Amino acid sequence: MTANIAARAAIVREVGAPWTIENVEISAPRADEVLIKMVGTGICHTDTACRTGFPVPMPIVLGHEGSGIVEAIGSGVTKVKVGDHVVLSFDSCGECLNCNKDQPAYCYTFYPRNLAGVRASDGSAQITQDGKPINGLFFCQSSFATYALARELNTVVMDKSLPLDILGPLGCGIQTGAGAAVNALGILPGESLAIFGGGAVGLSALLGARAVDAGAVIVVEPQAGRRALALELGATHVIDPKETPDTLAKIKELVGGVNYALDTTGIPAVMAAAVEALLPKGVLGLLGVPPPEATVPANMMSMLIRGITVRYIVEGDADPQEFIPRMAGWYKAGKFPFDKLIGKFPFDQINEAAHAAEKGGVIKPVLIF
Ligand SMILES: [Zn+2]
Ligand SMILES: [Zn+2]
Repeated sequence: MTANIAARAAIVREVGAPWTIENVEISAPRADEVLIKMVGTGICHTDTACRTGFPVPMPIVLGHEGSGIVEAIGSGVTKVKVGDHVVLSFDSCGECLNCNKDQPAYCYTFYPRNLAGVRASDGSAQITQDGKPINGLFFCQSSFATYALARELNTVVMDKSLPLDILGPLGCGIQTGAGAAVNALGILPGESLAIFGGGAVGLSALLGARAVDAGAVIVVEPQAGRRALALELGATHVIDPKETPDTLAKIKELVGGVNYALDTTGIPAVMAAAVEALLPKGVLGLLGVPPPEATVPANMMSMLIRGITVRYIVEGDADPQEFIPRMAGWYKAGKFPFDKLIGKFPFDQINEAAHAAEKGGVIKPVLIF
């Protein structure tokens, strides 16, 4: 295959503008690339953040939680075949120190590969419109389009018995939450976890903790609907921080303290409470985006005497080729009901879907093509 492919793509023309669905051309796959006919794509908080100001080049086709069917492969592709069902994840170089340690989320070239809008190798565009380049390659997929180009490296082949239309979020949001609990914190059976924020990432962390038989899992979340869903998904306790602002005292009252905590809010005061809720040798994982000027609000002596670790976690410390099939295996075994987080929308309702997620009406919207 050498000719360009006609596709429909949701384009953001400038910061803050809505998505507009337009005709584009996608280039034929190069040697290491895979062309995928999209079936579903989740909307992640990062898509919304990039639409509204996180620095990416414009105009751009976003979308980074895609699932679909392989339509064509480049000459050098060996592990992915035409007709395979696939989930697309983030790109990495496969060669740097962290990639070689199976930590591709910390690839030395993560940002140029996932956010630059053009091919990392030579700066060329994958998407054009009337011959003019449109920024693409968002997380090496730009999957808010009827066709997407990925690399073999970030294309994960899935079992065909799984519901392909809703698998995309396993490639980012769900991997981020579940991986944070399972890979980054390494939570063991019986160990306790407090999760601050019950959105898609927080509830995915809960699902991951339950899949590996964690002990008490407390979800702190102001929205009643999300607290109810957390209980349905196996949280042992929920706290409404509006009704009970002293969440630290409440966690101590409920369970005495926790082995691990995850913050998905990025709010400094929440992080301060999370640090103090930890038992000795506890670890706080940070997943939320903080205010740009925020500094760490923790008491150093208090951390010293308990041997506390605080760290940021990217993409759940996951190697997508290993962790995405692992989550799918839990799902098939009935231990990881991530489908309960998902609400489906037609592709052309992308703006309505993103709005519904912001308002809290749906946890994880997935666009269906
Ligand atoms: Zn690398
Ligand atoms: Zn994401």
